[in-house]
Amino acid sequence: MNTRLQYLFGLVFIFSIWSCGNDAPLSSCPDDSAAISHLELGNPSNATNDVNNPNNFLISLPQYALSYSRDRGIPNWVSWRVDRDWFGNAFRQDDFRAYDAFPSDWYTPDESSYLDSGFDRGHCCPSADRLCSSETNSSTFYMTNMVPQAPNHNRGLWRVLEEYTRLLAEQGNEVYVITGNYGAGGLGNMGYKETIDNGNIVVPLYLYKIILAIPRGNDDAQRVNENSRLIAVNIQNTNLADDYKWWEFRTTVDFLEEATGYDFLSSVPASIQNIIEARLDDGPVE
Ligand code: MN
Ligand code: MN
Repeated sequence: MNTRLQYLFGLVFIFSIWSCGNDAPLSSCPDDSAAISHLELGNPSNATNDVNNPNNFLISLPQYALSYSRDRGIPNWVSWRVDRDWFGNAFRQDDFRAYDAFPSDWYTPDESSYLDSGFDRGHCCPSADRLCSSETNSSTFYMTNMVPQAPNHNRGLWRVLEEYTRLLAEQGNEVYVITGNYGAGGLGNMGYKETIDNGNIVVPLYLYKIILAIPRGNDDAQRVNENSRLIAVNIQNTNLADDYKWWEFRTTVDFLEEATGYDFLSSVPASIQNIIEARLDDGPVE
């Protein structure tokens, strides 16, 4: 091989390395216009981004939307849409931190507020639902997305239900999830508590989840029909919950509306809500 040819091969080799680096899969998440859709099926408590509404305060991020309660120190509910476009190869960031945009006189939970409480910093919108980029994953670590959750509940049946939710997304669905809580009093690793962090954070009594799965497409609220899969669960916040399977706690959305005073799926036509919200899911569970 003459030197000129070697030189050429060398160039090609260097170029391949360069272009390979540039072609490395870029993280890509659904764009901001898609992000608006976290509330496409409704805003359950009519939360507003108004500091005079501190206990039903809307925080709308590209990754999820939530209603925050200043006096409980936790979200009332967190709502998000997930399909397989939100998955990817980003690493779990683990950068738990305070949400930084509250008025300065509000109590604001930070990464150490749950220390030595016997409760996990339990994600509402799970980290693993948001792995399309590191920034997107990081957004799930705001403390406004956390509730004090009994560790065996968080790491047991709740995690299994989160995994089933992602399976529904992997199967080609758009999945709308609302995770919320109500009441006070949970049984964690250090016994029963109604509050932690000097009374600033309420330990919820129940955690609930509403999961609606429809095939991918547009105009979702109008496409929900009487056959759409709708799962609701209501699970007490106790380490003992892990003696059971999540599907043993299935309930109706009507029950959760009664328990919370909210109207879930309010953008879905009322005639459809009436049918699916009264129905107890008996579909597959894994
Ligand atoms: Mn969790
Ligand atoms: Mn409703």
